[in-house]
Amino acid sequence: MSDLLIRNAAAIVTGARGDRARAKGPDIRVRDGRIIAIGARLPEPGEPTIDASDCVVYPAWINTHHHLFQSLLKGEPQGLNATLTPWLAATPYRFRAGFDARRFRLAARIGLVELVLSGCGTVADHNYLYYPGMSFDASAILFDEAERLGLRFVLCRGGATLTRELEAELPLALRPETLGAYLTDLERLAAAYHDPAPDAFRRVVAAPTTPLFSMRPAELLETAHTARRLGLRLHSHLSETVNYQDAAHAQHGLSPIRFAQEVGLLGADVWFAHLVKLDADEIALLGATDTVWRTARRAMAA
Ligand SMILES: [Zn+2]
Repeated sequence: MSDLLIRNAAAIVTGARGDRARAKGPDIRVRDGRIIAIGARLPEPGEPTIDASDCVVYPAWINTHHHLFQSLLKGEPQGLNATLTPWLAATPYRFRAGFDARRFRLAARIGLVELVLSGCGTVADHNYLYYPGMSFDASAILFDEAERLGLRFVLCRGGATLTRELEAELPLALRPETLGAYLTDLERLAAAYHDPAPDAFRRVVAAPTTPLFSMRPAELLETAHTARRLGLRLHSHLSETVNYQDAAHAQHGLSPIRFAQEVGLLGADVWFAHLVKLDADEIALLGATDTVWRTARRAMAA
């Protein structure tokens, strides 16, 4: 609905700070999908009108990290109460071969509908269900399902070139891609879907699945270089557990954030999910490189 008049809102929360946190209203006029006026008793030239009496109007939520295909795996008994790595082995990796186009679409639809119902308008999905010779185009399905619901959709294209221990039980056919295949698909997706405009409905982001375990350092550097050449942002999940910190030190003698810096994964065009286990140096480095807060603010603006 690109033209709209919202009337009589009990409150309008803007998302801005200080004096601008609330707009007086109580009416909002939307023209061509943009708010052009907020005020009292706006005239009614005949566009569709919503009576928002007793309602609060606020900007739609932005989901900055999700794994939509896992919507069908909630409550899977083998994964219940497991910690992160055993759960990954027992649930998403165990069932990844069970996803065909129909099941993948259903999982995406369930996850997206849940998000819409909770007030979300923009979804960044970190999809890592990719392997050589897949029978369906997971990326195309995600964009299609988001479009049907009128959502802004950011595809964070996960990917791995290394087999993690938790994948070792998987048949060879379900093992990781080559770097060449990953980067070729990133280029394809950028050309087919990526819109850099501030009000874009489709964005593509390079998102190696788990930096420490998914690719070799030189491959991460090449991925970051390719993403920047294509004008794509970078994303991943990082430092979810103490184990992750320990693994970074054991493998590279670096904290996870220092490792990310070494492989080109810090900067204003990068955001990470989780980051719940950080030391003071890492927090300072994230701040100094503008890695988290500025991209979060830009995402809000988009
Ligand atoms: Zn995640």
